[in-house]
Amino acid sequence: MDGREAFSAAGRFYRGNIHTHSTRSDGALSPGDVCGLYSAMGYDFLCLSDHFLAAFDFPITDTNEFRGDGFTTILGAEIHAPQNSQSEIWHVLACGLPADFDPPFPDERMESLARRARDAGAFVGIAHPQWSSLTIEDGRALADIAHAVEIWNTGCAIETGRGDGTALLDQLLNGGHRHLTGYATDDAHLKIPDAGGGWMMVKAETNRPDDLLAAMKDGLYYSSQGPAIGAIETAGDTLLVRTSAARMISLVGRGSRAETAYAEDGSLVSAELSLKRVAGDWCRVVVCDGDGKLAWSNPIFPD
Ligand SMILES: [Zn+2]
Ligand SMILES: [Zn+2]
Repeated sequence: MDGREAFSAAGRFYRGNIHTHSTRSDGALSPGDVCGLYSAMGYDFLCLSDHFLAAFDFPITDTNEFRGDGFTTILGAEIHAPQNSQSEIWHVLACGLPADFDPPFPDERMESLARRARDAGAFVGIAHPQWSSLTIEDGRALADIAHAVEIWNTGCAIETGRGDGTALLDQLLNGGHRHLTGYATDDAHLKIPDAGGGWMMVKAETNRPDDLLAAMKDGLYYSSQGPAIGAIETAGDTLLVRTSAARMISLVGRGSRAETAYAEDGSLVSAELSLKRVAGDWCRVVVCDGDGKLAWSNPIFPD
């Protein structure tokens, strides 16, 4: 996996949100209404990830009937089991579950449940790390099972100001967990305006669920709140990044290392950033537009 590959791989980008709730758990809208909303917002795919809890009769919300007109759905759930370092149940995203995925066994812990979800075909993400106050030890406990860390959660941001999850991803990258990627989601419950604030752009040959899932697992995506990333290419010791109009294009790495292009008027559309100055084992691109909206590449490994 390397964050540059999404831009060199065949196919096109599909916009999707893989973490959101409906009336099958604690969301305000029916599954059909949530799918209709995202389709109308121009999304190419959606995963309804209702809370996989006994209180809601362990839903794997069936969204098959809402596919069509270039819009597709992936079945999944937000799975829960004991217990993180805060003595709370884990919240883990499992996008791509079979409809008959077994509920947690008695006393099953998250390490086991998440492994079962992954083995059943899911893209597994460590959900809203900052909202949950997850520690690096929490991250390590799931790092080898998860595909990704949730680096942006719109609902958590709007409700609590704890929407960013990049710190945990960066710490795990510092710890050598190089397979991990970072995805943005809404986690919308639609009780407040929490839809459309963060999404994935997945590079795939088609928007069939299996193709999208395979691409996500291969890290062939970037994430955004607004800016588009058009290209990330290497030329010698330089990383060339092309974006929609931006105020900042930055390459961040281990510790405080960063290399930044900045234009106060928000007119940047490309930057050549020195990989040497961010030299280290990993880095990633962050873009900010004139409205303060961010986009994030997946981790890049210069060597
Ligand atoms: Zn959650
Ligand atoms: Zn959720």
